[in-house]
Amino acid sequence: MSEKFIPIKAISATSNGIRHWPAPDNIVTSAGESRDRLQRPLRDLRISVTDRCNFRCTYCMPKEVFTKDYPYLSHSELLSFEEITRSASIFVQHGVRKIRLTGGEPLLRKNIEDLIAMLAALRTPEGEALDLTLTTNGSLLRKKAQALRAAGLTRLTVSLDALDDKIFKQMNDVDFPVSDVLDGIHAANQAGFEKIKINMVVKKGVNEQEVVSMARHFKSTPHILRFIEFMDVGDSNAWQAQEVLRSDEIIRLLEAAGMPLIQLPAQQLGETAQRYQHRDCSAELGFISSVSHAFCRDCNRARLSTQGMLYTCLFASEGHDLREHLRAPSYGADSDAIISTIIGQIWQTRDDRYSELRDQARQTEHRKKIEMSYIGG
Ligand code: SAM
Ligand code: SF4
Ligand code: SF4
Repeated sequence: MSEKFIPIKAISATSNGIRHWPAPDNIVTSAGESRDRLQRPLRDLRISVTDRCNFRCTYCMPKEVFTKDYPYLSHSELLSFEEITRSASIFVQHGVRKIRLTGGEPLLRKNIEDLIAMLAALRTPEGEALDLTLTTNGSLLRKKAQALRAAGLTRLTVSLDALDDKIFKQMNDVDFPVSDVLDGIHAANQAGFEKIKINMVVKKGVNEQEVVSMARHFKSTPHILRFIEFMDVGDSNAWQAQEVLRSDEIIRLLEAAGMPLIQLPAQQLGETAQRYQHRDCSAELGFISSVSHAFCRDCNRARLSTQGMLYTCLFASEGHDLREHLRAPSYGADSDAIISTIIGQIWQTRDDRYSELRDQARQTEHRKKIEMSYIGG
């Protein structure tokens, strides 16, 4: 893949946390691989398809903030499936090889399988299909798993924070039972998703006692349990450093419970999870340690919000408006090349590394951060 430098001529302007880029004077017709200021390539695109959710996980969409009067986006504000697919195909020209659909709860978006089929038809410049995956709370999986698979979804991640029904309900805060999520995982497995990633956010004093039972449960399955450190995404979840159970503490808990682990080598550059395996060679596990072990150095992820704003960091407070360019009627045949040039400009100017600077940033910055349910995990 050739590397291209796109001269930045346009001057952008910000209003209300949204940066607007004018159509560039010089259009770059073939994108090539983009590198940011820290020489990180663009490989992974996360697309949020809705800002709504049927859960109210206390660490993500606390009930007190996300009430029924919360200003959720209206349908006309959302990118259409055609706009999402068009954007994705331009990102692929810049080096994206993996797309993750997320939200809010992505399975709430009507006919999501149609979008998956459209994205599954995209090809890289080398003619390969993309790695196409989706993260869900599992509540609608029993109903949707077959259709997702048939549409071409290659992999699946299901979030599950506890096996104990009382603790799980306390965390999802809508009284949703564990058994239905487990049933959804089973249905997905039957539909052909073999190694499902299971995301467990661990909060000290809330579900830390579930770490061992979750590890035991998934040890005898083909699935990969991933422990996620509770993160300070957005401004709603009242994050406190002392509520984070660090990955090394989790590893010690598992060892003490008779489940020693061995570390596995990384499979790809920019992986969010450190890979481990039970020492008896049963299931693989993952640790996403964005608080205790920042992994910004290799971060190759961009995020496209439900509304078509591009974010270059999960902890960003500013998005770049791509939707206004996707919808500009005057661009004619140059439209995709204009958007591609702007994406190149945005990625080239990126220098995000929030997790590496977290302590300093939290003390010195008092900016508004974007919510996880809007930007997607
Ligand atoms: N609703 C879907 C779900 O829960 O899987 C997809 C969106 S959710 C925002 C994506 C992932 O982010 C989930 O695995 C969730 O547990 C995780 N997440 C949300 N808030 C978090 C936080 N404050 N810290 C760590 N992980 C978080
Ligand atoms: Fe919904 Fe997922 Fe956030 Fe939970 S983590 S509230 S399921 S978007
Ligand atoms: Fe990437 Fe930002 Fe997370 Fe660092 S903090 S790994 S730059 S998304």
